[in-house]
This record gives sequence, C-alpha cells and structure tokens, in this order.
Amino acid sequence: MEYRKLGNSGLKISELSFGSWVTFNKQIDTSLAEKMFGTCLDAGINFFDNAEGYERGMSEIVMGDALKKLQRPRDSYCVSSKVFFGAYDNPTPTQMGLSRKHITEACHQALNRLKVDYLDLYFCHRADPDTPIGETVWAMHNLIVQGKVLYWGTSEWAAHEIEEAYKFAKDNNLTPPSMEQPQYNLLDRDRFEVEYNDLFLKHGMGSTTWSPLASGALTGKYLDGIPDGSRASLKGYEWLKKHMIDSDRGKERMERVSNYIQIANEHNLNPSKLAIVWCLLNKNVSTVILGASKQKQLEENLSSIELKPLINETLIKKLNNI
Ligand code: NDP
Repeated sequence: MEYRKLGNSGLKISELSFGSWVTFNKQIDTSLAEKMFGTCLDAGINFFDNAEGYERGMSEIVMGDALKKLQRPRDSYCVSSKVFFGAYDNPTPTQMGLSRKHITEACHQALNRLKVDYLDLYFCHRADPDTPIGETVWAMHNLIVQGKVLYWGTSEWAAHEIEEAYKFAKDNNLTPPSMEQPQYNLLDRDRFEVEYNDLFLKHGMGSTTWSPLASGALTGKYLDGIPDGSRASLKGYEWLKKHMIDSDRGKERMERVSNYIQIANEHNLNPSKLAIVWCLLNKNVSTVILGASKQKQLEENLSSIELKPLINETLIKKLNNI
C-alpha cells in the first residue's frame, strides 16, 4: 500500500480506503465488519469512511463496535463522519443541515456511535444554502480547537462554494477545509477533473473520492440484468437502480460500461480492479474509498494495486474514449 498526503496537510493516508455507505447494517453485520477491517488494516488501509446519514446512524454503530472489538491502536487509523442529512428518517429542521447547532450536536452523536474521542476527518456532506458560510466554518474551526475533529472538509460542494469557505477561513484566521469528498470514476469525471482543478492548484485541496466502481456498474455485472442481492436490487434503493440502469442516463451509461468491459477483456484485465486503479492515476486523488458488500469483493478490490505496472498510454487513451 502506498500513502498519499491529504492535499497540503501533513496527514498521510492510504491510497485505498474503505467506506460503509449502503453496506454496513444492511449487508454487513458487526462480525463481518470486524473481519473486513482486519483485512483492510493488514493490507495497510488507514482510513474508514462513514456519515451520520448512513442507515440513520446505524452504520456508525456497526463500525464503532467492529473497530472496538479489533482493539488496534487508535493512532494507527483514521475514521470519518459527515454532517448534513441527519440521522433520522424525518429529521426536524434542527436535526439536519450545517447550522452551528446541528454540526456541533451531530459531531457529539457521531463520536458516541463510533465510540471514539475524536473524528480524524469530518465532512459537510452537502452544501447548505440556508446557513451562512461563516457559521459553518466557525463551527468546524471550533470543533478542531476543542480537539473533537482533526481535519474538516466538504463533500459534493460546487467549486465556488468551496472557494468561499477558503476565503472566509483565510480572512478570519480560521482553519480552512483540508479535503473534498467527490464522486470520481471512469463514468463521472467532470467535477473532479475540470471544476475542481483550480482548487487543487491554488489551495492544495486533498480528496477522498467515492464510488470507484460507480456503485458496482463498472464490474460489468449489470449488463445482463440485475443480480439478486446486488445494490441495484436492494429495497429502499429503487432510486439508485433507476439512476444506474433504467433512466435514459442509465442506459447511456450502461452502453459505456459495455465498451469499457470490452477494453478490459482485450487487455486481459479484471474490470473491477482496472476501474479502481484508473482512479489512482490522477495525482489529485488522495485516497480512493472502496465499497464492498462481501469479503471476496474486498479482497479483489484491494489487489487492484497489483495492476499498476500494467497500465500504459495505449490503454489510458482507449479508456479516455469511453
Ligand atoms: P463502489 O462504486 O466501489 O461500489 C461498491 C459496491 O459495488 C459494493 O458494495 C458491491 O455492491 C459492488 N462491488 C464492489 N466490488 C465488487 C466486486 N469486486 N465485484 C462485484 N461487485 C462489487 O463504491 P461505493 O459506491 O460503495 O462508494 C465507496 C464509499 O464512498 C462509500 O462506502 C462511502 O463511504 C463513500 N461515498 C460517499 C458519498 C458522498 O456523498 N460523500 C456517496 C457515496 C459513497 P453489491 O455487492 O451490493 O452489488
């Protein structure tokens, strides 16, 4: 495993990390999570991603219980949470968003659920147009001063919103964001590669990128229908199935996936591993957050780094065409 700096910060983070969206508490229980974390830590992964909104906080409880059982030194890994969506099915106005009140309370709740004394990384899960940027930056800065959060960042904010946060922090001598958490994979590139480019150059922004397999689409497993038990078949994720497969956009993406699988086959490369290692080619990626619902998937995805020496210019050009 190689380690990359989280942007301009001093934090060295494993180039692959492991996240819990959809899977923890739905497909993965505490005992499987414990086994998977053990596999991750043994492979050199040092960052585990979570959010208050994942399974209404239950994902953090599973992660906290599993990490506690493993009893690895707390200073050998990082955990994150994200604030914005709330941890309830129907949150009240004070139980969501980026107000000082919700950021502060959500942090305390995440610490309890994850059973840790501090969050290494804390993200604003989406931008909140109802809260002044200064209130959010101050709330994050205060949590850092209190030692409850070490690095704060954004997730899926527009570039101009992130720029505003940097400016407010600089003008007021507060802690600026250290990282963004955007989607980045072979099918979703524009925001990361184009919109954020100036932020990487100007501020040395770090990035923890999500959905390297586009929710599993880039494995090719949806090309002949929806496999039983797969993410697109799950109750409560019908919106994702529509987005991934059934809508006009989904159909167009599946055509691109089909072209992608052909290229991977021509080069005799496993498509899941190739899609993951492709993300790592971008130097602005600090870590690629893996997702897996099964131990076997995790092991396959972890071994994607073995493909690094096999990636050449010809292959990259073909991949760029899709
Ligand atoms: P991926 O795009 O890699 O999708 C992971 C899913 O694909 C797995 O749960 C599994 O689903 C399937 N899969 C993975 N590996 C394989 C394999 N080798 N063979 C076959 N199927 C496979 O990542 P995620 O979408 O899960 O995103 C990763 C992490 O990023 C999340 O856990 C979360 O921490 C973060 N994230 C952040 C977001 C944000 O807004 N900040 C949004 C989304 C994710 P199945 O077996 O069920 O089909």
